[in-house]
Amino acid sequence: MIIAPYACHHNQSKGRQFQEELTLFRNHFQRDRDRIIHSASFRRLQYKTQVFVNHEGDMFRSRLTHSLEVAQIARSVARTLECHEDLAEAIALAHDLGHTPFGHAGQDALNECMKNFGGFEHNPQSLRVVDVLENRYAGFRGLNLTFEVREGILKHCSKKNARLLGEVGLRFIAGNQPSLEAQIVNYTDEIAYIHHDLDDGFRSGILNFKNLCDLDLFNEIYQNVIHMHTSVTEEQILNETIRRMMNVMIKNLCDETHKKIKQFNPQSPDELRQMPPLVDFSPLMARLMMQIKKFSRDFLYQHPRIQAMSNDAKKTTTALFNFFLKNYDSIPVSFKVDEQDTRERVIADYVAGMTDRYANNYFNSTNP
Ligand code: MG
Repeated sequence: MIIAPYACHHNQSKGRQFQEELTLFRNHFQRDRDRIIHSASFRRLQYKTQVFVNHEGDMFRSRLTHSLEVAQIARSVARTLECHEDLAEAIALAHDLGHTPFGHAGQDALNECMKNFGGFEHNPQSLRVVDVLENRYAGFRGLNLTFEVREGILKHCSKKNARLLGEVGLRFIAGNQPSLEAQIVNYTDEIAYIHHDLDDGFRSGILNFKNLCDLDLFNEIYQNVIHMHTSVTEEQILNETIRRMMNVMIKNLCDETHKKIKQFNPQSPDELRQMPPLVDFSPLMARLMMQIKKFSRDFLYQHPRIQAMSNDAKKTTTALFNFFLKNYDSIPVSFKVDEQDTRERVIADYVAGMTDRYANNYFNSTNP
């Protein structure tokens, strides 16, 4: 593995909250990745919604397959840009650990329930999962991950909340950037979801070639694909088009970022953290990306079928929150970590950790 001076090196990690002996066969970031994979929260991503609720069909993405796709792209981009692949992989695998059941509908409902108690956001929740809520090691709470992985997981944070988070919150107060590996994961998260959501949208029958061709990037590549391949199935045409789209976008990201790295020439990760964001698309690619996001919002996420799922999800999440307010003793003691936490925060942690089907079963058993 070639690592440039601006990349994070595992031997120069800013360390873990609790010191641990080095392992023989793995560097710090590989160890963090393995801890994430072995966590219960990671396994639960398997039954958490990306766009389509789990019981809609076996072919759709879940949060788990989404996270794996992000990790795959992040590793390739990190390698191309001479960054630390293991770090990028660990951040990618952990980035959605704090996601609620039922995708964004679940998060919106939980945020609404928590509006007078500090709110709820899935991204800071991912950090809370690895710092506090995972409980499997004898020596400490959480997974005791390195600063670099934790920094990468925390993508957004208000200044108010950042003050409560110690070192990992400082950059939000100072207005600095995270490591290049973290910046890579932010972009590869978007590359992964915009493409696989189009794919799932097509499989579901909500999207078709006619409306997908309203997208400039899709249309251009699609025309090429049908010109080159005349006797293939619709599914092959779709896969080939999406595969090529991803390739074009990833190449653009690597090229543009490479230019920025050359221009700013950072000599260490700390120097890079004080520079403007270096991972970027070209202005044209950024526009094409925005077009896809808007298209998905208008034609997929707001489609009546998805909206019906979202409305059910909001109802279920809110009902569970209210049920636990009245039946606080039903929450396992392992969630009551810190006496400083309000009951509402403990309830939010518990509900957020549920899978779609656990939440549905719990809802059905408490609302006969
Ligand atoms: Mg994501």
